[in-house]
Amino acid sequence: MKYMKTILLIGLGRFGRHVAMKLHELNHQVMAVDQDEEKVNRILPYVTSAQIGDSTNEEFLASLGVRNFDVCIVAIGDNFQSSLETASLLKEAGGEKKVVARAARDIQAKFLLRNGADEVVYPERQIAVWTAIRYSSDNISDYIALGDDHAIFEIQVPDNWVGKTIGQLDVRKRHHVSILAIKQNGHFAMTVITPETCLPANSTMLVLGTNQNVQKCFHI
Ligand code: ATP
Repeated sequence: MKYMKTILLIGLGRFGRHVAMKLHELNHQVMAVDQDEEKVNRILPYVTSAQIGDSTNEEFLASLGVRNFDVCIVAIGDNFQSSLETASLLKEAGGEKKVVARAARDIQAKFLLRNGADEVVYPERQIAVWTAIRYSSDNISDYIALGDDHAIFEIQVPDNWVGKTIGQLDVRKRHHVSILAIKQNGHFAMTVITPETCLPANSTMLVLGTNQNVQKCFHI
């Protein structure tokens, strides 16, 4: 497959396991590593290869051929010392290869970025923000943060917008947000939006804008 990536995934707790399963679904080639044999055995159906070992052991890590992977993901969570050492060793061994590590706190994110990680994922915080936004309003079905200020919200089409066109509502000029797509019954119904697009009842829209403008526009 043309866009297939080779990924080294270290740490097969709940988080790492979900990452492996999704990568498998997306048809990427994954080598999974954990020091716990049982965790490695459980992941075998979803990965191309797997190794049992301690990723803080330099020799073991070198034996994995880090340079052969496009991306290395450190999914170790609780043991921060291991996670930091692993990210650092991966960067040393992999050179330009991208290293992504998992952080549980701000200070961890900072240290990981200083010591080998090119990027961090911060599952607790990211999902906490999503949960707060998603469930504090009846109208929001999904939310994707884009940097600090912008986001895409999936929002119920307001009653007074139903049956009107995007042009009539003059959404961009009046509200400073863009409508990217329309969904009905959870499926994308329209992904090319023009001024003539008419907003159907019982549907949601994907809306791009600053958090402030979206909140103001939809009173959320
Ligand atoms: P999760 O929150 O994802 O469920 P967890 O709490 O079960 O994770 P963590 O301590 O976060 O466990 O570690 C995740 C996985 O990383 C575990 O399966 C653990 O065996 C593995 N792991 C931790 N340190 C190392 C290491 N140095 N080398 C290899 N694997 C490691």
